[in-house]
Amino acid sequence: MTRQLRNDKELADRAERVGRGLVAAAQTLIGSGPRYTDKDRVTHVLAGWWVYCLRTGEAAFNLIKDGFVVQARPLLRLLIEHELTMAFVDQCGEEGLKAVICYGARQNKALLGKMKNAGWEGLDELEEEYAANDPAEVCGREHTNPRHGTLLGSVGNFENLTTAMDEQHRYVLYRDLSSYDHARLRTASAYAVQDESSNINIDWDNRESGYPEAIQTAVAVIVATHIISCRLVGDPLRVDIEQALTTLDLPTKDVAPRLRSR
Ligand SMILES: [Zn+2]
Repeated sequence: MTRQLRNDKELADRAERVGRGLVAAAQTLIGSGPRYTDKDRVTHVLAGWWVYCLRTGEAAFNLIKDGFVVQARPLLRLLIEHELTMAFVDQCGEEGLKAVICYGARQNKALLGKMKNAGWEGLDELEEEYAANDPAEVCGREHTNPRHGTLLGSVGNFENLTTAMDEQHRYVLYRDLSSYDHARLRTASAYAVQDESSNINIDWDNRESGYPEAIQTAVAVIVATHIISCRLVGDPLRVDIEQALTTLDLPTKDVAPRLRSR
């Protein structure tokens, strides 16, 4: 699916309209009690990430509308990461989810070690919690499986994930957004510019357009909703998804990124 950044006001307006429309349709469906085709833990986690994407999408649209485009970029970065991880876990199933859980458990274990080194006290409860979620425990026999190692490499590194999903162009976008996620020159130059006479000029409003950001936000909301709708009895949001895609001049087939065939 085309995911190029387009600085196009008309398309951005359409994106915001369909993105918010899809969030509203999803909210209505959630209120009426959606029926999942399977109640396994993969679906449970995907459903949680879906709502995370809807709420984050809504927050990003609100920030962009209110002129906080710079502040919306870290949210968009998270949204893209969640959307792509959803597609990954959706297709890898339980073993993909195990890699996500194992990666988190490894991070927690390392963090606990750092807390101890830093002299933190009162860690008993946390220690107990993390011990119950030891990486080797949560993975069981999978832990020594080479395939598990490969999956871990994909969930722990976004560049690897984009390669696994054949979405390398999105790594570039992600990295570009990353420069607004850290203390880099771009977050300074968004608000302060020095002229030839060394005067420091502050641009309080920084009214950047936010058009590419709104378009990308809508795409992520659409893909996340597509993944869940396929796991619901009767694919209840299909009409809304297809309408949203058509409105954005995007194809209605191959909506979610696919695992690269090897
Ligand atoms: Zn593991």
